[in-house]
Amino acid sequence: MIMKKILTLAAAALITATAIAQPQVIAHRGYHATKGSCRNSIEALKQAQKLGLYGSECDINMTKDGIIVVAHGYLHPDKIYRRGEDIPRLNIQKSTYEELCAIKLENGETIPTLEQYLEQAKKSKKTKLIIEIKDHATPAKETEIVQQTVDMVAKFGLNDMVEYIAFRPWVCFELKRLAPEGTPIAYLNGDYDPAYVEGMGISGIDYKYDVLKKKPKWIKSCQKRGLKVNVWTVNAEEKLRWVIEQGVDYITTDDPVLANKLIKEMCK
Ligand code: MG
Repeated sequence: MIMKKILTLAAAALITATAIAQPQVIAHRGYHATKGSCRNSIEALKQAQKLGLYGSECDINMTKDGIIVVAHGYLHPDKIYRRGEDIPRLNIQKSTYEELCAIKLENGETIPTLEQYLEQAKKSKKTKLIIEIKDHATPAKETEIVQQTVDMVAKFGLNDMVEYIAFRPWVCFELKRLAPEGTPIAYLNGDYDPAYVEGMGISGIDYKYDVLKKKPKWIKSCQKRGLKVNVWTVNAEEKLRWVIEQGVDYITTDDPVLANKLIKEMCK
């Protein structure tokens, strides 16, 4: 009888120990897999808010004439890789805002400015905006976009609703220097180990799936150091299952609906 009780307790302890923590879901460039939505559009942010997601990611670039816009790098952003098609491609950083406005997004929207995006972000109390600041031509240019972004976010009263990610260490350092203390900043490039990122003084890593798949120990190593772990861009079910099992803190995905379904099923 006593033995049975001990075994039951041991089994319960084992279940507790192996329970998977629930990761937060971030829609990659907003939730764009619905009709009338497309990547980095205002509609994609609205749809992410409608799903009640933890976060909606977007990419920002500064135009030649100093306007910060939400776009991945070229217009039309989704058609960059479709070779052979005669689609006008404009380098955002070398174009004026007016030039960019001439090209419509897939859903008919005009390229959103960061200001318009923040206006929409303000409408949700739940869904955070995860802003990726893209690489720019010089460190001075990168400081300029960081400063203006941080100021604009503050002006909109969104300091607690915005997190930052960047590939460039310089951008991470400038964000750390200029954003309010405690603002989450994660490094994207995948080349620094947990000890180095801890030394950078930022809040965590946001690494590509392939990087973490090769170095799964980095996940726990980061978490032991108090760093958060985000992973991009995980869409396939088997990959989503793997990152959930690994106990990452955030999953950035183009399929937040599937991610949510799997989390519900796996993290009880
Ligand atoms: Mg991005």
